[in-house]
Amino acid sequence: MKNIKPFNGNCFGFYKEVVSRKKDQDYIRRISLLSPKVQNRIEEYQNKFASALLQIMKEGTFELSERDDLLRLYNYRSTLLQKLKIELTTDEYNRVSNTCPNCTIGEVNSFDHYLPKIEFPEFVVNPLNLIPCCSQCNSNKNASWRHENNRLFLNPYIDNLPNVQFLFVDLKILDNGIDLTYFLDPKRGIASNLFYLIQSHYAKLNLLERFKQNSDYIISELETEIKKYSQYLSIDTIKDTVIEECESNYRLLGRNNWKLVLKMALVNNAEYMGNF
Ligand SMILES: [Zn+2]
Repeated sequence: MKNIKPFNGNCFGFYKEVVSRKKDQDYIRRISLLSPKVQNRIEEYQNKFASALLQIMKEGTFELSERDDLLRLYNYRSTLLQKLKIELTTDEYNRVSNTCPNCTIGEVNSFDHYLPKIEFPEFVVNPLNLIPCCSQCNSNKNASWRHENNRLFLNPYIDNLPNVQFLFVDLKILDNGIDLTYFLDPKRGIASNLFYLIQSHYAKLNLLERFKQNSDYIISELETEIKKYSQYLSIDTIKDTVIEECESNYRLLGRNNWKLVLKMALVNNAEYMGNF
């Protein structure tokens, strides 16, 4: 997971703007009747969000027909939601990163409703509840999000990952390639409730396996780099260069970025580096 900055505008204002774009007068009349209730709920959400207590949110009391009307507000392709997506995926250096913050593998092509929209239709277009994400993470998460008042998924807006390594990769250098296994290990004393959340997030989104499935490209890229430099640099210098490069990327991608973890493990593996 990678942190992203949450929406900093007026959430109920955003909701009203979505409503104002609707054309069907009868629908607008019905949805306007719900607005005061939605406004209260959005305020409640903001309070829980600010104190990282989303897991204790109770379901709202909406009739089935009201729920259907609220759900109609959401359209990923709409201009407002596309504008929001760009805002949320633009980092503090004003660069757009279209990589899914939940997995850091796939491209953002949907919004995950952190509190599922079926259970919480009043937050269907609440920007704090919308996390830009890839379709695979979105479908893996589906409608699950908490168990007995414990959240099951990291929230890229709320949860700050510790700046220590908890993602590792075990390498087996074979004659015909590399067998690798990613694993999580709270070696350096990460608070147990945070580590529980990290484990749950990685397991439910199947991240360890997905990192492995995407690793060939990273290995090939590294091998090309090593081969290119080995014409005029010693293996030790190349190793130091790759390590330096990874370390400077921690700032941007985080200490537990699966690509950096893999590159570091490879250059620190004497058997692997001995092949060049
Ligand atoms: Zn994803």
